[in-house]
Amino acid sequence: MDSVKDAIIIGAGIAGLTASYLLSKKGKDIVTLDKSDHPGGPISSYREEGYLVERGPNSLLLPDPWVETLIADLGLTEELLETSEFAKKRFIIRNGKPIPVPGSPLQAIFSPLFSFKAKIGFLGEPFRRRLPDTEAASESVADFVTRRMGQEFLDYAINPFVSGVYAGDPEELVLRHAFPLMYGFERDGGSIIRGAMRYKKRKRQTGSEYKKRSISFKNGLGTLPIRLAERLGKRLSLNTHVKEIEYEEKRWTIRAEINGEQISFHSRTLIVCIPSHAIKLLPWPRSISERIEKSPDLPYPAVHSLALGFKREQIQHPLDGFGALAPTKERLNILGALFSSSLYPDRAPKGNVLLTVMMGGRQRPGLAQTSRESLESMAIEDLRTLLGLEGKPTFSRLVTWPKAIPQYIRNFGPWKEIINSIEEEYEGLECGGSAIDGIAMGASIMSGRRIAESLENF
Ligand SMILES: Cc1cc2nc3c(=O)[nH]c(=O)nc-3n(C[C@H](O)[C@H](O)[C@H](O)COP(=O)(O)OP(=O)(O)OC[C@H]3O[C@@H](n4cnc5c(N)ncnc54)[C@H](O)[C@@H]3O)c2cc1C
Repeated sequence: MDSVKDAIIIGAGIAGLTASYLLSKKGKDIVTLDKSDHPGGPISSYREEGYLVERGPNSLLLPDPWVETLIADLGLTEELLETSEFAKKRFIIRNGKPIPVPGSPLQAIFSPLFSFKAKIGFLGEPFRRRLPDTEAASESVADFVTRRMGQEFLDYAINPFVSGVYAGDPEELVLRHAFPLMYGFERDGGSIIRGAMRYKKRKRQTGSEYKKRSISFKNGLGTLPIRLAERLGKRLSLNTHVKEIEYEEKRWTIRAEINGEQISFHSRTLIVCIPSHAIKLLPWPRSISERIEKSPDLPYPAVHSLALGFKREQIQHPLDGFGALAPTKERLNILGALFSSSLYPDRAPKGNVLLTVMMGGRQRPGLAQTSRESLESMAIEDLRTLLGLEGKPTFSRLVTWPKAIPQYIRNFGPWKEIINSIEEEYEGLECGGSAIDGIAMGASIMSGRRIAESLENF
Protein backbone atom coordinates (compact mmCIF):
# COMPACT_ATOMS: atom_id res chain seq x y z
CA MET A 1 0.00 0.00 0.00
CA ASP A 2 1.22 3.53 -0.82
CA SER A 3 0.16 6.74 0.86
CA VAL A 4 1.17 10.36 0.13
CA LYS A 5 1.33 12.68 3.14
CA ASP A 6 2.11 16.33 3.90
CA ALA A 7 4.46 15.15 6.65
CA ILE A 8 5.71 11.88 8.12
CA ILE A 9 6.71 11.92 11.78
CA ILE A 10 8.85 9.22 13.35
CA GLY A 11 8.44 9.03 17.13
CA ALA A 12 5.26 9.55 19.15
CA GLY A 13 6.93 10.78 22.32
CA ILE A 14 5.67 14.12 23.58
CA ALA A 15 7.76 16.03 20.98
CA GLY A 16 6.48 14.05 17.98
CA LEU A 17 2.90 14.10 19.28
CA THR A 18 2.98 17.87 19.78
CA ALA A 19 4.35 18.48 16.28
CA SER A 20 1.80 16.05 14.79
CA TYR A 21 -1.10 17.64 16.64
CA LEU A 22 -0.16 21.19 15.63
CA LEU A 23 0.36 20.25 11.99
CA SER A 24 -2.90 18.33 11.77
CA LYS A 25 -4.70 21.30 13.35
CA LYS A 26 -3.41 23.35 10.41
CA GLY A 27 -5.17 20.89 8.15
CA LYS A 28 -2.05 19.00 7.10
CA ASP A 29 -2.37 15.34 6.23
CA ILE A 30 0.21 13.71 8.49
CA VAL A 31 1.12 10.28 9.82
CA THR A 32 3.05 9.58 13.04
CA LEU A 33 4.90 6.29 13.33
CA ASP A 34 6.07 4.76 16.60
CA LYS A 35 7.55 1.35 17.17
CA SER A 36 6.09 1.00 20.65
CA ASP A 37 2.55 -0.04 21.61
CA HIS A 38 1.74 3.22 23.42
CA PRO A 39 2.18 6.96 22.80
CA GLY A 40 4.30 9.28 24.98
CA GLY A 41 7.51 7.28 25.47
CA PRO A 42 8.21 7.23 29.23
CA ILE A 43 5.28 9.56 30.03
CA SER A 44 2.80 7.01 31.27
CA SER A 45 0.67 6.67 34.41
CA TYR A 46 -1.63 4.03 35.89
CA ARG A 47 -3.74 3.42 39.00
CA GLU A 48 -3.43 0.28 41.07
CA GLU A 49 -4.59 -0.53 44.60
CA GLY A 50 -5.51 3.13 45.09
CA TYR A 51 -2.03 4.41 44.14
CA LEU A 52 -1.27 6.50 41.09
CA VAL A 53 2.03 5.38 39.64
CA GLU A 54 4.09 7.44 37.20
CA ARG A 55 6.32 5.15 35.13
CA GLY A 56 8.58 8.02 34.03
CA PRO A 57 8.23 11.77 34.64
CA ASN A 58 6.39 12.92 37.76
CA SER A 59 6.02 16.65 37.15
CA LEU A 60 5.91 18.93 34.14
CA LEU A 61 7.66 22.23 34.76
CA LEU A 62 5.71 24.58 32.50
CA PRO A 63 8.41 26.29 30.42
CA ASP A 64 6.20 28.82 28.66
CA PRO A 65 2.60 30.10 28.83
CA TRP A 66 2.06 28.50 25.43
CA VAL A 67 2.03 25.03 27.04
CA GLU A 68 -0.95 26.12 29.15
CA THR A 69 -2.70 27.20 25.94
CA LEU A 70 -2.02 23.77 24.48
CA ILE A 71 -3.43 22.08 27.60
CA ALA A 72 -6.57 24.24 27.38
CA ASP A 73 -6.90 23.56 23.66
CA LEU A 74 -6.83 19.84 24.42
CA GLY A 75 -9.67 20.31 26.93
CA LEU A 76 -7.44 19.31 29.85
CA THR A 77 -7.64 22.46 32.01
CA GLU A 78 -10.10 20.76 34.37
CA GLU A 79 -7.74 17.80 34.69
CA LEU A 80 -4.70 19.94 35.51
CA LEU A 81 -3.29 19.72 39.03
CA GLU A 82 -1.15 22.39 40.63
CA THR A 83 1.40 21.14 43.17
CA SER A 84 0.47 21.51 46.82
CA GLU A 85 2.01 24.19 49.06
CA PHE A 86 4.66 21.61 50.04
CA ALA A 87 6.23 21.80 46.58
CA LYS A 88 8.10 24.97 47.55
CA LYS A 89 10.14 23.04 50.08
CA ARG A 90 12.85 20.75 48.74
CA PHE A 91 15.28 18.73 50.78
CA ILE A 92 18.90 17.82 50.18
CA ILE A 93 20.54 15.12 52.26
CA ARG A 94 23.52 16.17 54.35
CA ASN A 95 25.10 13.91 56.97
CA GLY A 96 22.25 11.45 56.49
CA LYS A 97 19.51 14.00 57.20
CA PRO A 98 17.11 15.82 54.82
CA ILE A 99 17.87 19.56 55.10
CA PRO A 100 15.48 22.11 53.50
CA VAL A 101 17.00 24.01 50.57
CA PRO A 102 17.06 27.69 51.57
CA GLY A 103 14.40 29.66 49.71
CA SER A 104 15.81 33.14 50.33
CA PRO A 105 19.17 34.81 51.07
CA LEU A 106 18.10 35.19 54.71
CA GLN A 107 17.31 31.48 55.02
CA ALA A 108 20.63 30.72 53.33
CA ILE A 109 22.52 32.59 56.07
CA PHE A 110 21.05 30.34 58.77
CA SER A 111 20.81 27.10 56.75
CA PRO A 112 22.81 24.10 58.00
CA LEU A 113 23.09 22.89 54.38
CA PHE A 114 26.33 24.87 53.89
CA SER A 115 29.23 25.62 56.19
CA PHE A 116 30.03 29.18 57.30
CA LYS A 117 33.14 29.16 55.07
CA ALA A 118 31.07 28.15 52.02
CA LYS A 119 28.53 30.91 52.71
CA ILE A 120 31.27 33.54 52.88
CA GLY A 121 32.60 32.11 49.61
CA PHE A 122 29.20 32.59 47.89
CA LEU A 123 29.40 36.33 48.60
CA GLY A 124 32.44 36.56 46.35
CA GLU A 125 30.62 35.14 43.31
CA PRO A 126 29.88 38.47 41.58
CA PHE A 127 33.56 39.47 41.81
CA ARG A 128 35.09 36.31 40.33
CA ARG A 129 36.74 36.35 36.93
CA ARG A 130 34.63 35.59 33.88
CA LEU A 131 36.14 32.83 31.73
CA PRO A 132 36.97 33.74 28.08
CA ASP A 133 34.33 32.50 25.59
CA THR A 134 36.65 29.89 24.03
CA GLU A 135 37.32 28.19 27.37
CA ALA A 136 33.76 28.58 28.70
CA ALA A 137 32.22 26.90 25.64
CA SER A 138 33.36 23.44 26.73
CA GLU A 139 33.52 23.92 30.50
CA SER A 140 31.89 21.21 32.59
CA VAL A 141 29.10 21.99 35.04
CA ALA A 142 31.38 20.92 37.90
CA ASP A 143 34.28 23.18 36.83
CA PHE A 144 31.96 26.15 36.36
CA VAL A 145 30.31 25.72 39.75
CA THR A 146 33.53 25.19 41.72
CA ARG A 147 35.10 28.16 39.95
CA ARG A 148 32.22 30.51 40.74
CA MET A 149 30.60 29.13 43.92
CA GLY A 150 33.05 26.67 45.49
CA GLN A 151 33.29 22.91 46.00
CA GLU A 152 30.63 22.71 48.68
CA PHE A 153 28.01 24.32 46.45
CA LEU A 154 28.86 21.73 43.80
CA ASP A 155 28.64 18.85 46.28
CA TYR A 156 25.49 19.87 48.14
CA ALA A 157 23.46 21.92 45.64
CA ILE A 158 24.40 21.24 42.02
CA ASN A 159 25.42 17.59 42.25
CA PRO A 160 22.04 16.49 43.71
CA PHE A 161 20.18 18.86 41.36
CA VAL A 162 21.96 17.29 38.37
CA SER A 163 21.03 13.83 39.70
CA GLY A 164 17.40 14.92 39.97
CA VAL A 165 17.19 16.39 36.48
CA TYR A 166 19.67 14.42 34.33
CA ALA A 167 20.47 11.41 36.55
CA GLY A 168 23.84 12.72 35.40
CA ASP A 169 27.38 13.56 36.44
CA PRO A 170 28.28 17.29 36.69
CA GLU A 171 31.91 16.41 35.91
CA GLU A 172 31.00 15.43 32.35
CA LEU A 173 27.93 17.54 31.53
CA VAL A 174 28.89 20.67 29.61
CA LEU A 175 27.33 23.80 31.12
CA ARG A 176 26.63 25.47 27.76
CA HIS A 177 24.58 22.47 26.60
CA ALA A 178 23.11 21.20 29.88
CA PHE A 179 22.20 24.52 31.53
CA PRO A 180 22.28 27.16 28.78
CA LEU A 181 20.49 29.76 30.92
CA MET A 182 23.13 29.57 33.65
CA TYR A 183 25.86 29.68 30.99
CA GLY A 184 24.24 32.79 29.55
CA PHE A 185 24.20 34.49 32.95
CA GLU A 186 27.99 34.49 33.19
CA ARG A 187 28.46 35.41 29.51
CA ASP A 188 25.99 38.26 29.76
CA GLY A 189 26.48 39.60 33.28
CA GLY A 190 30.01 38.45 34.13
CA SER A 191 28.57 36.54 37.08
CA ILE A 192 25.63 34.25 37.82
CA ILE A 193 24.03 36.77 40.18
CA ARG A 194 24.41 39.82 37.89
CA GLY A 195 23.41 37.79 34.81
CA ALA A 196 20.28 36.47 36.56
CA MET A 197 19.31 39.99 37.64
CA ARG A 198 19.74 41.35 34.12
CA TYR A 199 17.77 38.46 32.69
CA LYS A 200 14.88 39.11 35.11
CA LYS A 201 14.94 42.83 34.36
CA ARG A 202 14.81 42.18 30.61
CA LYS A 203 11.88 39.81 31.05
CA ARG A 204 10.04 42.44 33.12
CA GLN A 205 10.73 45.18 30.58
CA THR A 206 9.57 43.11 27.62
CA GLY A 207 6.51 41.86 29.50
CA SER A 208 7.64 38.26 28.95
CA GLU A 209 7.97 37.37 32.63
CA TYR A 210 6.49 33.96 33.35
CA LYS A 211 6.63 32.17 36.68
CA LYS A 212 7.44 28.57 35.80
CA ARG A 213 5.59 26.05 37.94
CA SER A 214 5.27 22.29 38.15
CA ILE A 215 2.00 20.63 37.29
CA SER A 216 0.46 17.22 36.70
CA PHE A 217 -3.00 15.89 35.89
CA LYS A 218 -5.62 14.15 38.05
CA ASN A 219 -4.75 10.84 36.41
CA GLY A 220 -1.05 11.59 36.05
CA LEU A 221 1.17 13.01 33.34
CA GLY A 222 0.21 10.19 30.97
CA THR A 223 -3.04 12.14 30.44
CA LEU A 224 -1.26 14.51 28.05
CA PRO A 225 0.15 12.04 25.48
CA ILE A 226 -3.06 9.98 25.69
CA ARG A 227 -5.18 13.03 24.84
CA LEU A 228 -2.86 14.05 22.00
CA ALA A 229 -3.03 10.50 20.65
CA GLU A 230 -6.84 10.55 20.87
CA ARG A 231 -6.90 13.78 18.88
CA LEU A 232 -4.63 12.24 16.26
CA GLY A 233 -6.77 9.11 15.94
CA LYS A 234 -5.82 7.14 12.84
CA ARG A 235 -3.03 9.58 12.06
CA LEU A 236 -1.02 7.81 14.79
CA SER A 237 0.37 4.42 13.87
CA LEU A 238 1.78 2.41 16.81
CA ASN A 239 3.67 -0.92 16.63
CA THR A 240 5.14 0.43 13.43
CA HIS A 241 8.66 -0.45 12.34
CA VAL A 242 10.53 1.73 9.87
CA LYS A 243 12.26 -0.65 7.46
CA GLU A 244 13.68 1.69 4.84
CA ILE A 245 14.12 5.43 4.25
CA GLU A 246 14.69 6.79 0.75
CA TYR A 247 15.31 10.34 -0.40
CA GLU A 248 14.94 11.16 -4.06
CA GLU A 249 14.19 14.43 -5.79
CA LYS A 250 13.35 16.15 -2.52
CA ARG A 251 10.86 13.47 -1.62
CA TRP A 252 11.07 11.07 1.31
CA THR A 253 9.76 7.53 1.15
CA ILE A 254 9.36 5.54 4.35
CA ARG A 255 8.68 1.84 4.06
CA ALA A 256 7.18 0.59 7.28
CA GLU A 257 5.78 -2.62 8.67
CA ILE A 258 2.57 -2.36 10.66
CA ASN A 259 1.29 -5.62 12.16
CA GLY A 260 2.90 -7.63 9.36
CA GLU A 261 1.58 -5.32 6.65
CA GLN A 262 4.02 -3.30 4.46
CA ILE A 263 3.10 0.34 3.85
CA SER A 264 5.03 3.04 1.96
CA PHE A 265 4.55 6.66 2.93
CA HIS A 266 5.74 9.47 0.63
CA SER A 267 6.23 13.07 1.68
CA ARG A 268 8.37 16.16 1.18
CA THR A 269 8.64 16.50 4.97
CA LEU A 270 10.17 14.03 7.41
CA ILE A 271 10.19 14.84 11.14
CA VAL A 272 12.29 12.66 13.45
CA CYS A 273 11.74 12.88 17.24
CA ILE A 274 13.43 9.80 18.70
CA PRO A 275 16.51 9.28 20.95
CA SER A 276 19.95 9.82 19.41
CA HIS A 277 20.85 6.10 19.55
CA ALA A 278 17.59 5.33 17.70
CA ILE A 279 18.32 8.07 15.10
CA LYS A 280 21.67 6.37 14.47
CA LEU A 281 19.96 3.01 13.92
CA LEU A 282 17.31 4.20 11.45
CA PRO A 283 17.65 2.67 7.95
CA TRP A 284 18.77 5.95 6.35
CA PRO A 285 19.88 6.21 2.72
CA ARG A 286 23.61 5.42 2.55
CA SER A 287 24.72 9.03 2.09
CA ILE A 288 23.06 9.96 5.40
CA SER A 289 23.91 6.83 7.41
CA GLU A 290 27.61 7.23 6.56
CA ARG A 291 27.57 10.65 8.20
CA ILE A 292 25.39 9.73 11.17
CA GLU A 293 27.55 6.69 11.92
CA LYS A 294 30.50 9.04 12.35
CA SER A 295 28.64 11.22 14.84
CA PRO A 296 29.60 10.83 18.50
CA ASP A 297 27.32 8.95 20.90
CA LEU A 298 25.34 10.55 23.70
CA PRO A 299 25.24 8.36 26.81
CA TYR A 300 21.76 7.44 28.08
CA PRO A 301 22.17 5.94 31.58
CA ALA A 302 19.68 3.47 33.05
CA VAL A 303 17.26 4.84 35.62
CA HIS A 304 14.94 2.87 37.89
CA SER A 305 11.72 4.42 39.12
CA LEU A 306 10.46 2.64 42.23
CA ALA A 307 6.98 3.50 43.53
CA LEU A 308 6.67 2.59 47.21
CA GLY A 309 3.51 2.78 49.30
CA PHE A 310 3.49 2.83 53.10
CA LYS A 311 1.03 3.32 55.92
CA ARG A 312 1.41 6.95 57.03
CA GLU A 313 2.50 5.92 60.52
CA GLN A 314 5.43 3.90 59.14
CA ILE A 315 7.29 7.15 58.31
CA GLN A 316 8.35 9.63 60.99
CA HIS A 317 9.28 12.44 58.58
CA PRO A 318 6.38 14.88 57.92
CA LEU A 319 6.97 14.51 54.14
CA ASP A 320 6.26 18.23 53.91
CA GLY A 321 8.09 18.88 50.67
CA PHE A 322 8.66 18.05 47.00
CA GLY A 323 11.15 15.35 47.90
CA ALA A 324 14.74 14.78 48.94
CA LEU A 325 17.79 14.58 46.68
CA ALA A 326 20.93 12.63 47.55
CA PRO A 327 24.37 14.15 46.81
CA THR A 328 26.92 11.60 45.56
CA LYS A 329 29.10 12.42 48.58
CA GLU A 330 26.48 10.96 50.89
CA ARG A 331 27.11 7.51 49.32
CA LEU A 332 23.47 6.46 49.33
CA ASN A 333 21.85 3.92 47.02
CA ILE A 334 19.14 6.28 45.82
CA LEU A 335 19.34 9.40 43.65
CA GLY A 336 16.41 10.85 45.51
CA ALA A 337 12.82 10.30 46.62
CA LEU A 338 9.79 12.29 45.58
CA PHE A 339 7.06 12.70 48.18
CA SER A 340 4.45 11.99 45.49
CA SER A 341 1.37 11.87 47.72
CA SER A 342 2.35 15.17 49.38
CA LEU A 343 2.68 16.88 46.00
CA TYR A 344 -0.64 15.99 44.38
CA PRO A 345 -3.96 14.78 45.83
CA ASP A 346 -5.31 11.26 45.36
CA ARG A 347 -1.97 9.52 44.79
CA ALA A 348 -2.34 7.00 47.63
CA PRO A 349 -5.25 5.35 49.49
CA LYS A 350 -6.44 7.17 52.61
CA GLY A 351 -4.01 6.74 55.50
CA ASN A 352 -1.15 5.76 53.14
CA VAL A 353 1.65 7.65 51.42
CA LEU A 354 3.42 7.20 48.09
CA LEU A 355 7.13 7.81 47.58
CA THR A 356 8.74 7.62 44.13
CA VAL A 357 12.39 6.67 44.44
CA MET A 358 14.85 7.18 41.57
CA MET A 359 17.93 4.96 41.37
CA GLY A 360 20.78 4.33 38.92
CA GLY A 361 21.90 7.13 36.63
CA ARG A 362 25.27 8.03 35.20
CA GLN A 363 27.12 7.93 38.50
CA ARG A 364 25.79 4.53 39.55
CA PRO A 365 26.06 2.44 36.37
CA GLY A 366 26.48 -0.71 38.49
CA LEU A 367 22.82 -0.52 39.48
CA ALA A 368 21.60 -0.94 35.87
CA GLN A 369 21.50 -4.76 36.14
CA THR A 370 20.49 -5.02 39.80
CA SER A 371 17.47 -7.19 40.59
CA ARG A 372 14.13 -5.79 41.69
CA GLU A 373 14.44 -7.30 45.18
CA SER A 374 17.93 -5.83 45.75
CA LEU A 375 16.88 -2.39 44.49
CA GLU A 376 13.88 -2.40 46.80
CA SER A 377 15.88 -3.41 49.86
CA MET A 378 18.62 -0.85 49.05
CA ALA A 379 15.99 1.89 48.76
CA ILE A 380 14.32 0.86 52.01
CA GLU A 381 17.68 0.81 53.79
CA ASP A 382 18.26 4.45 52.75
CA LEU A 383 14.73 5.56 53.60
CA ARG A 384 15.03 4.08 57.10
CA THR A 385 17.82 6.46 58.05
CA LEU A 386 16.66 9.43 55.96
CA LEU A 387 12.96 9.49 56.79
CA GLY A 388 12.63 7.32 59.87
CA LEU A 389 10.88 4.54 57.97
CA GLU A 390 9.82 1.41 59.79
CA GLY A 391 8.74 -1.89 58.27
CA LYS A 392 8.19 -2.90 54.67
CA PRO A 393 6.23 -1.20 51.89
CA THR A 394 2.62 -2.27 51.47
CA PHE A 395 2.90 -1.47 47.74
CA SER A 396 5.92 -1.64 45.43
CA ARG A 397 6.22 -1.24 41.68
CA LEU A 398 9.45 -0.91 39.71
CA VAL A 399 9.99 0.42 36.19
CA THR A 400 13.46 0.32 34.66
CA TRP A 401 14.42 2.62 31.80
CA PRO A 402 17.59 1.05 30.33
CA LYS A 403 18.27 4.20 28.28
CA ALA A 404 16.57 6.95 30.22
CA ILE A 405 17.91 10.46 29.66
CA PRO A 406 20.47 11.82 27.14
CA GLN A 407 23.56 13.34 28.68
CA TYR A 408 24.61 16.64 27.15
CA ILE A 409 28.34 16.03 27.41
CA ARG A 410 31.09 17.32 25.09
CA ASN A 411 29.79 15.04 22.34
CA PHE A 412 26.54 16.97 22.26
CA GLY A 413 27.99 19.90 20.26
CA PRO A 414 29.47 17.78 17.42
CA TRP A 415 26.36 15.54 17.44
CA LYS A 416 24.06 18.53 16.95
CA GLU A 417 26.34 20.00 14.26
CA ILE A 418 26.15 16.80 12.23
CA ILE A 419 22.36 16.65 12.56
CA ASN A 420 22.06 20.33 11.60
CA SER A 421 24.27 19.89 8.55
CA ILE A 422 22.21 16.90 7.37
CA GLU A 423 19.00 18.87 7.90
CA GLU A 424 20.43 21.70 5.79
CA GLU A 425 21.42 19.41 2.97
CA TYR A 426 18.33 17.20 2.87
CA GLU A 427 15.33 19.41 2.36
CA GLY A 428 12.27 18.69 4.44
CA LEU A 429 14.14 16.89 7.23
CA GLU A 430 13.62 18.17 10.79
CA CYS A 431 14.89 16.53 13.98
CA GLY A 432 13.73 17.36 17.49
CA GLY A 433 12.91 16.02 20.93
CA SER A 434 15.23 15.41 23.84
CA ALA A 435 18.16 14.31 21.69
CA ILE A 436 18.30 17.84 20.27
CA ASP A 437 16.31 20.48 22.14
CA GLY A 438 16.60 19.85 25.90
CA ILE A 439 15.99 16.91 28.18
CA ALA A 440 12.87 17.94 30.11
CA MET A 441 9.32 17.13 29.09
CA GLY A 442 8.57 20.85 28.68
CA ALA A 443 11.56 21.25 26.35
CA SER A 444 10.29 18.40 24.16
CA ILE A 445 6.82 19.97 23.96
CA MET A 446 8.46 23.25 22.88
CA SER A 447 10.59 21.28 20.41
CA GLY A 448 7.44 19.87 18.78
CA ARG A 449 6.09 23.40 18.55
CA ARG A 450 9.36 24.72 17.09
CA ILE A 451 9.24 22.14 14.33
CA ALA A 452 5.54 22.64 13.54
CA GLU A 453 6.05 26.40 13.34
CA SER A 454 9.21 26.14 11.27
CA LEU A 455 7.13 24.33 8.68
CA GLU A 456 4.61 27.18 8.55
CA ASN A 457 4.52 27.45 4.77
CA PHE A 458 5.21 23.97 3.53
C1 LIG B 1 12.53 7.91 34.55
C2 LIG B 1 12.36 9.25 33.91
C3 LIG B 1 11.92 10.32 34.69
C4 LIG B 1 11.76 11.58 34.10
N1 LIG B 1 11.26 12.59 34.87
C5 LIG B 1 10.97 13.78 34.30
C6 LIG B 1 10.27 14.79 35.04
O1 LIG B 1 9.87 14.59 36.20
N2 LIG B 1 10.02 15.97 34.41
C7 LIG B 1 10.40 16.20 33.11
O2 LIG B 1 10.17 17.28 32.61
N3 LIG B 1 11.03 15.24 32.38
C8 LIG B 1 11.30 14.05 32.94
N4 LIG B 1 11.88 13.05 32.19
C9 LIG B 1 12.24 13.34 30.79
C10 LIG B 1 11.04 13.29 29.85
O3 LIG B 1 10.38 12.08 30.01
C11 LIG B 1 11.54 13.48 28.43
O4 LIG B 1 12.10 14.77 28.31
C12 LIG B 1 10.47 13.37 27.36
O5 LIG B 1 9.64 12.29 27.56
C13 LIG B 1 11.16 13.28 25.99
O6 LIG B 1 10.20 13.25 24.98
P1 LIG B 1 10.60 13.05 23.46
O7 LIG B 1 9.37 13.08 22.68
O8 LIG B 1 11.67 14.01 23.13
O9 LIG B 1 11.29 11.62 23.38
P2 LIG B 1 10.80 10.20 23.86
O10 LIG B 1 9.86 10.31 24.99
O11 LIG B 1 12.03 9.41 24.05
O12 LIG B 1 9.97 9.63 22.64
C14 LIG B 1 10.55 8.96 21.58
C15 LIG B 1 9.53 8.06 20.93
O13 LIG B 1 10.13 7.50 19.80
C16 LIG B 1 9.81 6.12 19.72
N5 LIG B 1 10.87 5.48 18.93
C17 LIG B 1 12.15 5.25 19.28
N6 LIG B 1 12.81 4.68 18.25
C18 LIG B 1 11.94 4.57 17.23
C19 LIG B 1 12.02 4.06 15.91
N7 LIG B 1 13.15 3.55 15.42
N8 LIG B 1 10.91 4.09 15.14
C20 LIG B 1 9.76 4.58 15.62
N9 LIG B 1 9.62 5.07 16.86
C21 LIG B 1 10.69 5.07 17.66
C22 LIG B 1 9.71 5.68 21.17
O14 LIG B 1 8.90 4.53 21.28
C23 LIG B 1 9.09 6.90 21.83
O15 LIG B 1 7.69 6.84 21.84
C24 LIG B 1 12.05 11.77 32.73
C25 LIG B 1 12.49 10.69 31.94
C26 LIG B 1 12.62 9.43 32.52
C27 LIG B 1 13.05 8.28 31.67
